[in-house]
Amino acid sequence: METVDLLIQHLAPIKKPLHLHEPWFNEKSWVYVKDCLDSGFVSSVGQYVSDFERALEKLTGAKHAIAVVNGTAALHMCFKACDVMENDEVLLPALTFVATANAVKYCGATPHFVDVARDTLAVDPEALDRYLAENTEIKEGQCINKKTGRVIKALCVMHVFGHPADLNSLLSLCERYHLQLVEDAAEGLGSYYKKQHLGTFGKVGALSFNGNKVLTTGGGGAILTNDDPVAAKLRHITTTAKVPHAWDYYHDEVGYNYRMPNLNAALGCAQLETLAYMLSMKRKLAKWYQTILAECAGCEVLTEPPEAESNYWLNAVILKDESDLVPSIEKLHAEGVFVRPIWKLLHTLPMYQDCPRMPLPVSEGVVGRIFNLPSGVQLAIDLF
Ligand SMILES: *Cc1c(COP(=O)(O)O)cnc(C)c1O
Repeated sequence: METVDLLIQHLAPIKKPLHLHEPWFNEKSWVYVKDCLDSGFVSSVGQYVSDFERALEKLTGAKHAIAVVNGTAALHMCFKACDVMENDEVLLPALTFVATANAVKYCGATPHFVDVARDTLAVDPEALDRYLAENTEIKEGQCINKKTGRVIKALCVMHVFGHPADLNSLLSLCERYHLQLVEDAAEGLGSYYKKQHLGTFGKVGALSFNGNKVLTTGGGGAILTNDDPVAAKLRHITTTAKVPHAWDYYHDEVGYNYRMPNLNAALGCAQLETLAYMLSMKRKLAKWYQTILAECAGCEVLTEPPEAESNYWLNAVILKDESDLVPSIEKLHAEGVFVRPIWKLLHTLPMYQDCPRMPLPVSEGVVGRIFNLPSGVQLAIDLF
């Protein structure tokens, strides 16, 4: 319990309760949201939505950013962009938030769970390479699962807690196995791999602006892509597939009402103006946690991989001993420090237990030993 005692001691001067990641609003947030209310354009039409998209393109370097209602909808559209459909499989980590798999299911396809690397907690390119070499074959330019006979269309990589996955190796693996790369960069706004923003490496990438993420629009998400036809298709189907016309209603396919409302985008525009400040405070907080837990024998703190710059969305402690997890969480909760364990492995959830999966030794070895620390901007402001 040395880990817990150190945390409690160092967090003693801070006002409780401490939640995992509370939103932090700059002054412009009130100004832009009020302006939006005053204008009457609170819904799916309005200047803030396109302003927010252009600002996201500038920040991430993506050619196109398409703002949508949440990160899950963004992921759904990413898989649509890859033509994922019934009888397809999509490779994705067992260690991720449930939305990654749900979005595959929304397309009628089957998630196929893969293991993660111990250093990044994201998809392990080497283990996956060995697995695919043995269990798949390439036929007519498609990757076929030899056991199920289904096409494996894509690999979805998730950047855990904002720490970039090993993208170089994963891109090369996707090329060799004819897989489209989708990035679940929901946690990755403001994170870079070799100076390139997450979500811009694959065919498409998804961001989330949920209330607990680095930057929030209340609820929201965005799709990033450099592909012009994909961007045009996604803009169309996220706005009910309405053919543009001054007054007439004509829809040329089954669309989705996924466009981000102007009210949410106003908040996003305000937040983006201080993103650099928010990230710098989060980085200070991460260094502070790393320093106070450096001497601790019973745990390790997850840090950004080499050649990467992480947004440090959520700080994470990995305990040596699984039996310390529940007592650690309970003791911290009793002090008003609301730490949280990581997600359950997705193949252990009822709706995903029959999905294909590779052996998951690393995921199974870490899942019961991780908890996240309060990581919001306000905590950093209170501390420093
Ligand atoms: C937050 C999150 C999502 C979903 O985003 P929402 O905006 O909540 O729908 C998807 N994947 C991961 C990894 C996330 O952390």
